[in-house]
Formats: sequence, C-alpha cells, structure tokens
Amino acid sequence: QISNQASDGASDGASGAGSLAALLARQRSAFLADGPPPLERRRAALRALKAALVARRRQFEAAARADFGHRPAQITAIMDLAPVVQAIKYQHRHLRRWMRPERRRVALTFQPGRAHVIRQPLGVVGILSPWNYPVSLALVPLATALAAGNRAMVKPSELTPATTELLAAMLGEIFPQEQVAVVTGGADVGAAFSALPFDHLVFTGSTAVGRKVMRAAADTLVPLTLELGGKSPVIVEPGHPVERAAADIAFGKTANAGQTCIAPDYVLVHAADLDRFVAAYVAAVRHYHPGGTADPAYTSMITARHAERQRALLDDAREKGARVIEIEAEPPPQQPLPNAVAPAVLLDVTDEMTVMQEEIFGPLLPVLAYRSLDEAIAFVNARPRPLALYFFGVGRANRDKVLAGTTSGNVTVNDVLLHYAQDDLPFGGVGQSGMGAYHGVEGFRALSHAKGVFEQARWNTGGLIRPPFGRIASWIAA
Ligand code: NAD
Repeated sequence: QISNQASDGASDGASGAGSLAALLARQRSAFLADGPPPLERRRAALRALKAALVARRRQFEAAARADFGHRPAQITAIMDLAPVVQAIKYQHRHLRRWMRPERRRVALTFQPGRAHVIRQPLGVVGILSPWNYPVSLALVPLATALAAGNRAMVKPSELTPATTELLAAMLGEIFPQEQVAVVTGGADVGAAFSALPFDHLVFTGSTAVGRKVMRAAADTLVPLTLELGGKSPVIVEPGHPVERAAADIAFGKTANAGQTCIAPDYVLVHAADLDRFVAAYVAAVRHYHPGGTADPAYTSMITARHAERQRALLDDAREKGARVIEIEAEPPPQQPLPNAVAPAVLLDVTDEMTVMQEEIFGPLLPVLAYRSLDEAIAFVNARPRPLALYFFGVGRANRDKVLAGTTSGNVTVNDVLLHYAQDDLPFGGVGQSGMGAYHGVEGFRALSHAKGVFEQARWNTGGLIRPPFGRIASWIAA
C-alpha cells in the first residue's frame, strides 16, 4: 500500500492504517528535525520533479493510454503533463518573493513595535487525487506542497494503476520516503488516509466523496482544500458568433471525452439561436473527431462502468422525453475505441432527468433555450454553485451582469477551460464545488501557515495598558 516505489497493493486494511500512521509519523519527525527548508532546497526539489516528469513524457503518455484503454498522447501531454511543468516554472520563479516575511502596519499606540507575517510550512500535507488527469491532479498539489516547504503523502486513484505505478517509481527515485511518499489503494485506503492527522489535506474528486473526507477530517481538525465537481454551465449571448462558440464548446466537451472537472456540462443558448447552435456543434464535433468513437483523437471512458453510466443517462433522458442527437461516424465504426461513448446533444431536457441532476463527466451535452439573460442567470442561480462558468458574449454590460450575478469557482469568457491554465489565477470551487483554492500565490498560501509576529521595541515598557490604567480612558476616547 505504501511506497515511493511501485506497490503490489497487498496489505490488509488494519495493518495498512497502522503503516499509514507510521509513515506520517516518520515524515513529521523528519520535518521537525530538519526545520523549514530554505529557498534553494525547495527550488531544487521543484527542478528535480520537473526534470523527472519531462524525461518520462513518453512513459506517462503510454501509461495513460493503458489506463484509459485509449487516450491520445497529445491530450496527456497538453492537459495532464504541461500543467505540471508550467506550475513548477511559475512557482520556481515567484517562490523567493512569496517566502519573504511581510511587514504589516502597527497602530500608533504600539509603535515603535514592529509587525510582520511569516509564512511557514505546515508540516505534512496529504493529497488525494482522482483518475481523470492522474498526473497533474497529483503533482500540481505536490509541487505546491513542496514549494511551501512541506512533506507530502500522495494517494492517487485506483482507476489509473499504470500511471500510479509510474508516479510512485518516479517519486521514489527523486525523493526520500520521509519527504514524499505514494500510497496506493482504493476507497478503503482513501478512507484510512483521510482519517490521518495531517497538517493539511488536499482532496480532488467528487462532491460525494468530498463530503466523506470532510467528515473524517472533522475528527482530527485537519484543514482541507476540497477541489470538487459539479455542473459547469455555458451561457451563449445572442450576437456572439454561434459557430465560434459551438466549436469552442465542442473542443472543451470532447477533450478527454468530457472527463474533465471543468468541462462545459450544459449550454444555455438564446431560443432564436438554438437550431443554429446545435447544427454548428454537431459539425464541430464531426470536424474534430471524423472517425467518431474510433477517432484516434478521441478518448475512452475510464472503465466499462463509466461508459455504462453515460448510456444510462441517455436512456433515462430519452424515456422522459428528451430528443437525443448522437454524433457518431457514418457508418458506425467496426472497431470503436474501448468503452468509447459517442458525443451527443440532448434537447428538451427537464429537471426530472438524471442528466440535469448529476455532473455528466462525459461527452453528453444538454442544450437548453432561454429567452432573456435574466432567465439564464436565474437558471444557474437556482442550482448548486458550479466549479466553472462560461460566458460567450459581445458586450461589456452583459458580461459584467453575468460576472456579478452568478457565483462559480472560476469563469472563462469567450472560451472554455482556459482559466485553469492561468498560473496567476486561483483555481477552486465554491459551495458544493469545493472550498479553498490552489494555483497562484493562493496555492502557496493555502499550504503555509501565516504566522503573525509582533515584536515589541526593546525600550517600550507597555505602560499604557498596565495598572494603574490612568491613561486608558483618554486613549479609548481619542
Ligand atoms: P472520487 O471522489 O471517486 O475519487 C477521488 C479519490 O478519492 C480517489 O483517490 C479515491 O480512491 C478516493 N476515495 C474514494 N472513496 C473515498 C473515501 N470514502 N474516503 C476518502 N477517499 C476516497 O472522484 P473520481 O471519480 O476519481 O474523480 C471524478 C470527480 O472528481 C468528478 O466529480 C470531478 O468533477 C472531480 N474533479 C474535480 C477536480 C477539481 O480540480 N475541482 C479535478 C478533477 C476531478
């Protein structure tokens, strides 16, 4: 279960929990013995991580292909590996400034004392990661933890065993187990892991499991960053070129076959544009994936169960009256990718359909018509706060209205997904889509303790607030 080498996963639950606790204890005592690592040691760790990842690019691409059944190497390179490289470069560049103690103002009464904030490492950070981008969702939190001077234990998803094995072997080569360790296993190991008294836990995964993790962390009072999911809406304003919006959305929805936490989940388009939008969307999907479910640029669903869930969502919607346009090659391919599900547009959907209740996390796209922007905003606000929101618009006024009138983790205007790639923006959810954020300085700060320090001047006796209190009345009145 525990390794910074590949693991055979053979260990019983009880001894597993015991050895997890022992591993945490080892990391913590090493942390206490060594003290907070200086800038250069942190930078060296980041460089080592980046170099090791870049050197194994082809291996990670092959591992993802094995884990998914089929995933194009370019999707792994662009959407899973590049974000780690980019985040590390950015952290490396800004770390010196982030680590500097920050002077704060001191009220006249307490002068000439001085105040500053020291950002110090928390200690040991736990990282629980999902399968959809198994490299970046494990390694960007890890790089952030290391930049902030912490040690870390990482538990990747059990659904990507090849990638996890490669991650464990790579991290084992570049870090001692007291600094970075990989723990492997499924939900039971995840549950034991989330019960450990870490100094901070970063969980990326579903809202349902996030709830369990938060319950477990309540017992130990471990602070959490929860990067969860949800239904991320798209609003297309009349006047914005429909073909352009449809093509952008088609890319965001079919990349990794929709298995992206910030993938557009459903689209709200003006009633007058509905038909044109649907036609343009179908054309764009065909353009990107002319081979349908056999197209080499398309991606398999991670397991047969996940493919089955998409088909069940379609069946449920059809039964309840939705119109479904499946976008498959014609004739349908003889040999589709393993567990591939064809992209589809769903029209006339209602709240009674499961597809409008759960995060889709696949290539199905409900398209709904609205008549006024207020109606579209109200539709979004009547539902849990999403992880991402996308607005395609022409004017400043409506853009500002949507930005001010809705609450989502993040927003990309006139495109999809790209807020995630901005190093200097915080990334995270709000409400049911998560709490806390990483990326940017926010990530460094989330995994540091901001310790406020007041330093009394040597010759100040603090007489004002000590007996006989004579001057206090006039001080308060002033
Ligand atoms: P998941 O919640 O099923 O699993 C995530 C991790 O939690 C895995 O490592 C799993 O083994 C572990 N786990 C399972 N049961 C557990 C338990 N009871 N206690 C503790 N840990 C447990 O999520 P998933 O299916 O791997 O990923 C898909 C979900 O993740 C989607 O909802 C998606 O939106 C979300 N997601 C969010 C982000 C983000 O950045 N906000 C990124 C990617 C995915």
